[in-house]
Formats: sequence, C-alpha cells, structure tokens
Amino acid sequence: TAPARDRLRIAIQKSGRLAEPARSLLTACGLSWRQSRDKLFCYGESLPVDLLLVRDDDIPGLIADGVCDFGIVGRNELDEQGAARRRIGLPDAYQALRGLNFGQCRLMLAVPDEWDWQGVQQLAGKRIATSYPAILADWLAERGVDAQVVELSGSVEIAPRLGTADLICDLVSSGATLAANQLKPVETLLESEAVLAGPVKTPDDARAGLMAMLLRRLDGVVNVQD
Ligand code: ATP
Ligand code: ZN
Repeated sequence: TAPARDRLRIAIQKSGRLAEPARSLLTACGLSWRQSRDKLFCYGESLPVDLLLVRDDDIPGLIADGVCDFGIVGRNELDEQGAARRRIGLPDAYQALRGLNFGQCRLMLAVPDEWDWQGVQQLAGKRIATSYPAILADWLAERGVDAQVVELSGSVEIAPRLGTADLICDLVSSGATLAANQLKPVETLLESEAVLAGPVKTPDDARAGLMAMLLRRLDGVVNVQD
C-alpha cells in the first residue's frame, strides 16, 4: 500500500483537449498553485492540493498505483484501461466519481460510406482498427461477434483506406473527421465525457477530508454550470 500523505495530488492532462477545462474547473473550486518551472508538478497554494500534469493515458495508472488521489480523464480512457485490467484478471483500482460536463464524445463503430449497414452480425470475420481494444473486444464478445481487433495508437481513421482494417472503432464528436475519410458512424459503444476519477478505496489519512471537501465544491461548481 502507498505511504500516508497529508497533501492531495490531482493528475490532469498536460496539454490537449481536457487540459484547459480541467484546470479552469479546479480553479473554480478555489484551488491555486505556485507556478512551477518544470510544469510537471504544481504546488498547491490555497489548499494542500498539488497538480500533476501528465498524458491522459497515464492518469488511470497513477491512481491505481496511489501516486495520485484524483484524476481528470475521459471516461473512454478510464473504461479502456479498466477493461484491459479486468481482461488480465487484475482487480478494479479506480472509478469514475463524477461526470464533469465537458469533453463529450462517443466511441463509435464507423464503416466505409458505401457499406449498407444492417447490424452487428455483418462484422463477422472483419478487421476493426481501434485505440480501444479492450472496450471493443468486450462489446463484440457481449454480442457474440467474431471479428478481429487491430490495435492502432493513432490515425485510426485512415486504416480502411490503407487496407489495414475493414472498419474502425474511434472517438467521434462532430463526425467531420469520419466524413473526410469516407466513413460513416453506425453503432455507439460508449457515451464519454471528462470524469473525476478516484481510487476504489479512500485513503484513511488527512487526504480523506480534503477529498470530501473537493467533491462538495465540485458538485457546486458543475451543477451551477448546467
Ligand atoms: P495526450 O498527449 O494527453 O495523450 P491525447 O492525444 O490522447 O493526448 P486528446 O486528443 O487531447 O488526447 O483527447 C483527450 C480526450 O478528449 C479524449 O480521451 C476524449 O475523452 C476527449 N475528446 C473529446 N472529443 C474528442 C474527439 N473528437 N476526439 C478525441 N478525443 C476527444
Ligand atoms: Zn492520450
């Protein structure tokens, strides 16, 4: 188990879609930080709550390892890493505590424009490119569909044109990227937004009170924004 701490650590994305809204949300909760030079770690000033600026992919693991107490991350990323852990028999190590009302997108299956989509049975024997292999594999298994999952870390939407996959499973917000690649969305696997993620078990030291306080403030701020 991780050692006791008397300061809270929150991991947020260093740069990217969730970076700015995550920081603004925490600022609206009354947090402020001393400007750090390396910009990886920001020391909390108004409260003993420090920030870690990282890649979004690292956030679930930082919580699982007890390095951070909270994280702001897309539900898509949290669920993917949770599903991947479960697939190899690891216990749940984090959970989504609150939806934060930003970063909305959907994880969707998209097929070439010319396909006549008739349902999931059409996926049998097809190759599906995705950066979300665990969520996709679970979804296919639940439906009893035998398709091949092709894991790609980026540029998933060009896979059908390159011939490395027949269709894709990717995040969609406006749909413009799909359209530009002659793809059309056909099924939604997950409705995602940014979430506040935390450990399954609250630490039993000074952090517990800070975590409860931050959740209360967050509820006030997120509800007012509605
Ligand atoms: P990092 O360098 O931190 O790994 P990234 O490239 O993985 O960054 P971003 O593209 O900034 O991440 O996306 C972060 C999150 O924003 C996604 O995981 C998702 O939850 C959300 N999001 C909202 N809309 C979209 C979209 N259209 N495409 C991708 N992600 C989106
Ligand atoms: Zn990422």
